[in-house]
Amino acid sequence: MIKILKKITASLFPERCPYCNKVVKQGEIACKSCKSEFPEAPLVSYASGCYICYSSFFYKDIFADAIKRFKFYNYPQNAEKLAVVLADTISQYDVSFDYITYVPMFPKRERERGYNQSKLLAKEVSKILDIPLEHFLLKIKDNPPQHTMNKKEKKNNVKGVFGVQKKDILKGKTVLIIDDVITSGYTLGECCKILSKNKAIVFCATVCNAEKLL
Ligand SMILES: [Zn+2]
Repeated sequence: MIKILKKITASLFPERCPYCNKVVKQGEIACKSCKSEFPEAPLVSYASGCYICYSSFFYKDIFADAIKRFKFYNYPQNAEKLAVVLADTISQYDVSFDYITYVPMFPKRERERGYNQSKLLAKEVSKILDIPLEHFLLKIKDNPPQHTMNKKEKKNNVKGVFGVQKKDILKGKTVLIIDDVITSGYTLGECCKILSKNKAIVFCATVCNAEKLL
């Protein structure tokens, strides 16, 4: 009976390639054509404050489409397939992480969207890599979105917008912060700074990189 129900659900809601939205076989992380576009190695950049960040893709073409669909067009289920590639990128780090965390959203904004895309990615990556997920960061100020600003404004816009919790378990731990995209690197940098201040060793990973490669 459960098998039949699963079959019906699969035919009503087929799995889709997160990059081009075509139907794919169950369990496939992407269609053949999109897979052939995947880069061979992670892209390396730095969040402000010189914290290293590995990303799976450049933020362009099908990869930018994947982020937009996932984030703005109500496809939270795409976290599962995107996280498989992100987990693979993260495994390129020669580092043993104690915790995974994510860039938080202001609670009101998260309620409006219905989900925080970075938290969903972090949850999936935590399962795949078997690294505990911890909610270390809080968004304490509802600042305007970064993409509406120039470089200098972006830098000031993220100052003091994050808080930290669970400080007791953070000290001396190696933590990976996950976000969907690194652009200016100020947001991730601010998150790194606050965790570092609490004596954590911090690394970052994102699905896409929208900044110029260093
Ligand atoms: Zn595809």
